Amino acid sequence: MKFDTAYSLSLEEKLSIYDVRELNFDETTAFDSDKERFLCPNDECRAAFAPSNGLTTFNAKNVNYLRTPHFKNTPGTRHIDGCRYASHKAGTAESEDEREESFPSEFVLTRRQYQHKTPVSGPEGVTPQTSQKTPSSHTSTSHNCSDTTPDKTSVFAHPVECYVSNIDNKDKLKGMPLKIGEHTATYWAFFKKIEYLQDNKGLIYWGRIKEIKDYTSSLRIDFEKKVWLDKKPYSVNVYLNKKLIENYRKRKAFLEQVKAAMGNERPLYCFFYGVTPELKQVPSKKKPEQTFGVFSADIENLDHLIIREAPGLES
Ligand SMILES: [Zn+2]
Repeated sequence: MKFDTAYSLSLEEKLSIYDVRELNFDETTAFDSDKERFLCPNDECRAAFAPSNGLTTFNAKNVNYLRTPHFKNTPGTRHIDGCRYASHKAGTAESEDEREESFPSEFVLTRRQYQHKTPVSGPEGVTPQTSQKTPSSHTSTSHNCSDTTPDKTSVFAHPVECYVSNIDNKDKLKGMPLKIGEHTATYWAFFKKIEYLQDNKGLIYWGRIKEIKDYTSSLRIDFEKKVWLDKKPYSVNVYLNKKLIENYRKRKAFLEQVKAAMGNERPLYCFFYGVTPELKQVPSKKKPEQTFGVFSADIENLDHLIIREAPGLES
């Protein structure tokens, strides 16, 4: 049985596994999912047991993962009768874990604020922030607190995993709605191969990475596929400003992704949202008096860019 959400004892709210990954990689937050306690998201079920009746995580800390991250029962986890998170069969097939089945209907562009309600260390008692605490799971900052599928996410990896792990099921992707900003489309329509970026602006573009070049003040991700315009092929790339990376709260994890891509041992893909590469004229290296055209964009928000393996995308 895999769980789309779990209740975090220290944060006193329900988190998706992608929220947990965000917290693990966030260098500004002291959070380690191995030391946290996650409980059944079903309120009634959770209330019936002691807080020691916990769940475990899968792929919560792997920067580069292939199999879909999730929460799962430990061999000793108990649930009340009728809890939808109870395992029905022993030895459930591993294949059940291979795809993301909880499709958020909205990708929220502002980052979710996670507040540690229980001080990690320090004296017993009340810290100033806890006075703002509202009871149980109805804080205004959390997006959704039902015990079913989380409806919204602010973690880009979540819709990307929905797409990648279900790529062999086009009908499913064509049937699932996704809202980003003012736009609503299906998962299928929102994800656009980089070579077709001229079809529409404001989508999630993706493509296989050809190489990543390291310049003085930026990294440049070059895509393998080219964009065709007036019967001519143009290269596509995105620039990542190094200052943006230096100040990124998930810097270490991000650089690990980049390093893997530069080593280029396996095919890697880049997904991004927020900018649409446009045709620009840049000076030629060999003949600076000449220019050539390239589709290019500057990434503005690293939260909305992912480099990952994605087997099955090109079959
Ligand atoms: Zn339960």
